[in-house]
Amino acid sequence: MTDRILDFLRRTRPEGPCLVVDLDVVRDNYLRFEKAMPDSRIFYAVKANPAPEILSLLASLGSNFDCASVQEIDMARAAGATPDRISFGNTIKKERDVAAAFERGVRLFAVDCIAEVDKVARQAPGARVFCRILCDGEGAEWALSRKFGCEPSMAVDVLDHAHRSGLVAYGVSFHVGSQQKNTQAWDSALQSAAEIFRIMSDRGVELKMVNLGGGFATRYLEDIPGEGDYGNAINECIRAHFGNRIPETIIEPGRGMVGNAGVIKSEVILISQKSEGDIRWVYLDVGKFNGLAETMDEAIRYPVMTPRQGVEVPCVLAGPTCDSVDVMYEKKPYPLPINLEIGDEILIAGTGAYTTTYASVAFNGFPPLQSYVI
Ligand SMILES: *Cc1c(COP(=O)(O)O)cnc(C)c1O
Repeated sequence: MTDRILDFLRRTRPEGPCLVVDLDVVRDNYLRFEKAMPDSRIFYAVKANPAPEILSLLASLGSNFDCASVQEIDMARAAGATPDRISFGNTIKKERDVAAAFERGVRLFAVDCIAEVDKVARQAPGARVFCRILCDGEGAEWALSRKFGCEPSMAVDVLDHAHRSGLVAYGVSFHVGSQQKNTQAWDSALQSAAEIFRIMSDRGVELKMVNLGGGFATRYLEDIPGEGDYGNAINECIRAHFGNRIPETIIEPGRGMVGNAGVIKSEVILISQKSEGDIRWVYLDVGKFNGLAETMDEAIRYPVMTPRQGVEVPCVLAGPTCDSVDVMYEKKPYPLPINLEIGDEILIAGTGAYTTTYASVAFNGFPPLQSYVI
């Protein structure tokens, strides 16, 4: 929550719910990452928030971009990133999209199996590939679990196959799970990466790069490690496992780059009870389908601010749509002031990442979440 955002809301009084992102905070975050991990190239994970103003700012600061689709690649290019600053980091790509990326000059691709290597070898001859390894996401609030990556032992075969297919077997990647508050979470994946480097080296292929992924936390209700804490812990692990053969590294912060830069303005539509004396239900004009998708399984718990100072009572917090899954917090109710009223303005902090693009197009006719970047 920044004064610039509060001032913007006071001055412009936007009608309906909206996200406001303060670019000054994004700039601070970028500079902090750069300072904490000076030897790593930063690839902003575009999916976290692809607003053109954010991409342009980051491009001007020197950021690179981790893109998951041709559309994201085009957004990064429109923001001023040359193709050598773009990685096609999705391990699940249509072959024609690999070709489209290659045609645009992209030469860095993620893979996690032989079939994907074959697509890249056919459509992006000579490109660099890195193999993603599985990471259990232990300790993360939004684990990315088993969908991406392969076992380290298989990564060796995948990279070997890439090498023999005329690609540059460039390195290893992993993601320790999003909103990862444990700074030691990188350790075991780095140990596996170092092992893969050694085996590949024995086979005559020198890998160069470790992609450390994202996972850097943004502040919600609880304290989080700073960028410097992550940097120190990760550097120690790299030294422990790679000795004096330190690889190139890249990081792909998404949430940590933009999460704390955004605030969603919302409004209380209804406060009710299911029976006399029962828990209060507070319905907002935003919910799971209007930007708060990450409240799924109550995973991410956002700071919710109201204009009231009364005693707080536990409430169920729900969204405005006609789907009964559109409830943010129920298993663990959210404390809100007892004197909260229908029509009160609600501010939801820490919503700069994974909100606008997760909002539905028009479920129940509600328009997609408005976004203002200031
Ligand atoms: C989503 C994603 C990121 C960003 O993760 P955060 O936890 O938001 O920092 C980075 N890399 C890849 C490959 C991703 O899919």
